Amino acid sequence: MKANLPEMNFFDGFYIWFNKEKKEEYYATPLYLYKANTKIEYDNRLVTVYLEDKKKKTVIEEQGLKFPGNMYFPYYEKFGMFLVRFLNANFENYQTAYDTFFYAYGFEILKELDENYTFELKNKYKDEDEYLREMEKIFLALQYKIQQVQEEMIKCVTYIYNLDNREELSEYTPSQRFAVYLIKRLGSLFTYNKNDNVIKDNYSNKNLEFSIFSELQLLDRFKNNDILISMMDTHESKDLSAICYAVLEELVKTPNSPIKKCQNCGMYFIPTSRLDEIYCDYSKQNGKICREQGAILAYNERLKQNKALAEYRRLYQLKSMAVGRNKDNKQMKKDFEKWKKEAKDRVNQLKHGALTEDEVYEWLIKNK
Ligand SMILES: [Zn+2]
Repeated sequence: MKANLPEMNFFDGFYIWFNKEKKEEYYATPLYLYKANTKIEYDNRLVTVYLEDKKKKTVIEEQGLKFPGNMYFPYYEKFGMFLVRFLNANFENYQTAYDTFFYAYGFEILKELDENYTFELKNKYKDEDEYLREMEKIFLALQYKIQQVQEEMIKCVTYIYNLDNREELSEYTPSQRFAVYLIKRLGSLFTYNKNDNVIKDNYSNKNLEFSIFSELQLLDRFKNNDILISMMDTHESKDLSAICYAVLEELVKTPNSPIKKCQNCGMYFIPTSRLDEIYCDYSKQNGKICREQGAILAYNERLKQNKALAEYRRLYQLKSMAVGRNKDNKQMKKDFEKWKKEAKDRVNQLKHGALTEDEVYEWLIKNK
């Protein structure tokens, strides 16, 4: 069956495509979730979706378009966000799953996760509360499967981007590891692309996008080379795992888009500026992002290191002075030599990262 882009204004299913030059990801889905707020950029034909701030009182605001009416008003995010959000999502219960994932992507992507699952079409629900209550039943029925997919995605991303820093994998590229992971069927990822409908892009799909130009205007623009039409294949699916697969494959094929694990909070992220970035830039409850917190931690670590070294030097001086004052005390001299050797050894281990600051400091205090 050859799939086509929907021509009607509203449609079911989930559609995702990418612009790798702009590092952007676009998706379209009915997204019945009225609790998510949208901001529409009419000039760029793009929609951003937010989770409504629960602390703020809901402001009733009529924006005309509740969700993207068609493919030319898609939601957009940073390239790779679907997968990264999925890896970070908390599927412990319906509320956390909604707040960390489904508010942005809707429930369409669960349709094919279970054959018994019957998804009612739009306009069947009285209001948003009824809709969300119904979705909760579906979520609970599929929760275990969703968590399984998440586990597998974490496993394969860990392998493909070598997030465990495994020595034997370090010399290979993500695309090499991706290929081997699939060929050798290392996890269940190889079963995930079965429900992906790839829609090849073509000029017929550009009708709405270029509707503002007349036939002659368009011909002139082509002649003068001042129009660029990029062709982007679209993935259509109602299966969460197939979309994860599609995004992962695009990421792997794109140089300089690694998935990383934040060294402060452990969340997955794709660095925006520096490729060697080790901290994410998700804002945390204290309003700070990990990159800022990380800098503070590193500073504290240096301070602590100074604390142990300072204690070592202070004790060394005290002890050597005491030995000097008690030249006849052979035992004292012997003890000092022993202490000196052991303390020096620990300081060296600290400098090489084999011992922590606290461990060395505590040893110094105990062995005064
Ligand atoms: Zn972080």
